[in-house]
Amino acid sequence: KCAARLMEDKKQPPHVVIFPLPLQGHVNSMLQLAELLALSGLKVTFLNSPHNHNHLPQFADVPARFTKFPGFEFRTVPDGLADDHPRTGRFLLEMLDGMIVKTKPSLRDLLVDINPSVDCIIGDGILGYLLDIGEELEIPVIQFRTISACCLWVYYRIPDLIGAGEIPVGGNEDMDRLIKMVEGMENFLRGRDLPSFCRAKNLEVEGTRVQTFAQETRRSATAHALILNTFEDLEGPILSHIRTKFPKIYTIGPLHAHLRTKLSEKNLVSSDSLNGIREVDRSCISWLDQQAMHSVVYVSFGSIAGLTREQLLEVWYGLVKSKVRFLWVVRPDSVLGHWGDEDVPVELMEGTEERGYLVDWAPQEEVLDHWAVGGFLTHSGWNSTLESVVAGVPMICWPQFADQHVNSRYVSEVWKIGLDMKDFCDRHVVEKLVNDLMEEKREEFVGSARTMAKLAKESVSFGGSSYCNLDSLIEDIKLMSL
Ligand code: UDP
Repeated sequence: KCAARLMEDKKQPPHVVIFPLPLQGHVNSMLQLAELLALSGLKVTFLNSPHNHNHLPQFADVPARFTKFPGFEFRTVPDGLADDHPRTGRFLLEMLDGMIVKTKPSLRDLLVDINPSVDCIIGDGILGYLLDIGEELEIPVIQFRTISACCLWVYYRIPDLIGAGEIPVGGNEDMDRLIKMVEGMENFLRGRDLPSFCRAKNLEVEGTRVQTFAQETRRSATAHALILNTFEDLEGPILSHIRTKFPKIYTIGPLHAHLRTKLSEKNLVSSDSLNGIREVDRSCISWLDQQAMHSVVYVSFGSIAGLTREQLLEVWYGLVKSKVRFLWVVRPDSVLGHWGDEDVPVELMEGTEERGYLVDWAPQEEVLDHWAVGGFLTHSGWNSTLESVVAGVPMICWPQFADQHVNSRYVSEVWKIGLDMKDFCDRHVVEKLVNDLMEEKREEFVGSARTMAKLAKESVSFGGSSYCNLDSLIEDIKLMSL
């Protein structure tokens, strides 16, 4: 109330600049946060890379979509990469390096010149240099992490694990050995569940990444506050450990569901919001409309993971052999190496024509909400995991890299809302797990998935933990502008 009264005197809403790493998973969730803040009356400037802003169709009609947010503005800051750079997760370190050389000075200049002056920076927690800029310009920085709290906690513990010789894992070692040094996970976190770059075979190429993630995570504790896209009923036990190191944490997720709540409070519909940085193929919804209740397994490995030709074929054979209907997102840039229609064996073509549907990019939230979808074969990216949790759809997890290995362990062992296929993906395993999830063992997961979905929705409803935490965050930002 005090902040509201003082703001009335000041007459101008606080100005927040939001800056994500320019990759889909980061842009999506930070854009949802941006919309939530704009809906509550703050002035928000969202910083995009010119590549995302100019080359992707969703941003072309920004003014029309955003007329409902008068205080919302997009600005661009170079990402430091050549125009034809592939910009996928494999080049993350290259991206981060490019950003320090080119983005950091441009961003600093923008923050100095921008009008009205900036009251608060909400920066992607993976871009630690934002803390330096904030310190120099005396602008408070709140960090936003796009990963799960459980993975954040593992990242935080990495220096201790290195010190104790627990990392690297792999080689001839038993990957099922329990890792005892991460509080709250002593009884179920195995070597194979650590983030992918802790593996010996990855360390040679990704060694510096371990250091980067560990350092940035520890530095986050010096930010004004930390925002996490999660909710208390999902990750409460781990959050209580994290809170011993991070003084102020706002858990305000699942953000996509939170945004839906706030849009409907203002009689706006979800499709009014800006979503995604790729063009969606909506024909799959018509295909789903023709399928039986809970009969389809939805398959997607996110926006940046790449599959080898062999992996693609194993998944494909497994799906076709399972006899379950499937909707599969195969991004054109997701197959590593040459791949064309001529490479697809006839039996796979026939099986797919009979029971499957392939798209380049799906409206994922809508797909997961569709009554025909009964399971999700996912790479366990955090956004996908949360979207599945909210939709109450049980998962088969096939983690690829980074936080996904931790997430999939939580899905199977802690929340009991799915199966973990980590490290064991061949056609027989895919066939068996799809059948287990969709039929044989379905009852084991459906109850807990529904319960978690209910808790997720309650957290973003009036009076729920994330709903109240967002109010506190906004209050905190308002106080900064006084
Ligand atoms: N997504 C989508 N359509 C697709 C595949 C993915 O809209 O066909 C969205 C999905 O809803 C999620 C994001 O892309 O919001 C992927 O983020 P996630 O954190 O799961 O994985 P990442 O892409 O970062 O590996």
